[in-house]
Amino acid sequence: MMKRYLLLAALFFSATASQAQDSLFIRKIYDEALVNGQAYDNLRYLCKNIGQRLSGSAGAEKAVTWSKKLMDGYGFDKVYLQEVMVPHWVRGAKEQAYIIDGNKKIAVPIAALGSSIATPASGITANIVEVKSIKELETLGESVIKGKIVFFNGAFDQRFIETGAGYGAAGVQRFAGPSAAAKYGAVGAIVRSITPALDDYPHTGGTVYVDGVTKIPAAAISTLAANKLSNMLRLRKLPLIKFYFKQNCQTLPDVKSYNVIGEIKGSENPNKFITVGGHLDSWDLAEGAHDDGTGVMQSVEVLRILKTTGYKPKNSIRAVFFMNEENGHKGGIKYAEQAAADKEEHIAAIETDEGGFTPRGFSFEGASPAFIKQVNAKFKNLLEPYEADRLVEGGGGTDIGPLKETVPSIKLIGFRPDSQRYFDIHHTANDVFENVNKRELHLGAAAIASMVYLIDQHGLN
Ligand SMILES: [Zn+2]
Repeated sequence: MMKRYLLLAALFFSATASQAQDSLFIRKIYDEALVNGQAYDNLRYLCKNIGQRLSGSAGAEKAVTWSKKLMDGYGFDKVYLQEVMVPHWVRGAKEQAYIIDGNKKIAVPIAALGSSIATPASGITANIVEVKSIKELETLGESVIKGKIVFFNGAFDQRFIETGAGYGAAGVQRFAGPSAAAKYGAVGAIVRSITPALDDYPHTGGTVYVDGVTKIPAAAISTLAANKLSNMLRLRKLPLIKFYFKQNCQTLPDVKSYNVIGEIKGSENPNKFITVGGHLDSWDLAEGAHDDGTGVMQSVEVLRILKTTGYKPKNSIRAVFFMNEENGHKGGIKYAEQAAADKEEHIAAIETDEGGFTPRGFSFEGASPAFIKQVNAKFKNLLEPYEADRLVEGGGGTDIGPLKETVPSIKLIGFRPDSQRYFDIHHTANDVFENVNKRELHLGAAAIASMVYLIDQHGLN
């Protein structure tokens, strides 16, 4: 009897001692991030000295070279480039668009969607059919759609608390709408920008052409312009309002590019990995500050913090700057394939690609309620003082997603910052360094470093 109590007491005190040790180390991580953090200065360089870095561009190439140098400078155990072929889409000369109402031309802020084809050199002028969803498009059918420009005007549902959910719901019309419209004979597609904000910034983003369906030019227009166009269509019967747009984009042959990878070797299990990553490529309209400059700079900062604080991880820790998240996901696919080819064991991968805003917590992809309960029991109280303790079921991320196929035992984790402002600037000309807050960015790096530390110490099973 006595022996059993002693054993329980010993277990209790060792658990408490381990919690105290964890708590002290996490404090140390936050102190380093908040006092000596370098992510913000690194991000400034990436945004202001390199700027936009769409896959295949000169900016992307510069970003690869600079990122490797940055990691080399930190003296990680291993820094290397992982070659990957990526699509090379270019926007060309700036797009133009007008609503044509009799003799009046009303200019519309527009941006071609990534992967879109160009219009003919003279542009496209056609009547418009407005729909709120692909389903509505299907009910109208070819007799209504043929020869027209389809205007997808499904609004961002403001009721979602986590705006990523709203983005996913409204995003379908951008990814799949243009090809769906082409099936019914549409000559072009314009899409309401996927954002809860009402302003004059068009939000670009990828669209996907379905094989075997005629490709039609596709573009996003600003939410204010979408409202105006919708109102005009509602009020005016005859003569019909027309829409004109011209864009000059082009898909060139694939280009050789790279994921940039830094690694601290595990002291106990060098062939077991915890990956933290974001994507180095960005859309071409701005500097890719929040999407995803903040994510890559947080990822390298995690390694820097762990190294600087003298932490010797049990498992190998990697920072991965993925290439081509925005218009092909080739970097993520390559990383997963190589992990399998090299027979690496992967414990977990954490993706940071939802902006550099105040951290709230982490989402665990496909996690059971029992797993979520357990991970909360283990880690929540340690993250609570830093307000990064929401540990929930949810998505991991686009770049780490392919790892699930090649390393099925892996846990995929999404870093979850506050989401309220992200989609205001996402994929617009407004995604610039000035919109990133230094403390928020550094708090995020510390939250991720803490999660990496906890997983390294205690695993996830
Ligand atoms: Zn992104």
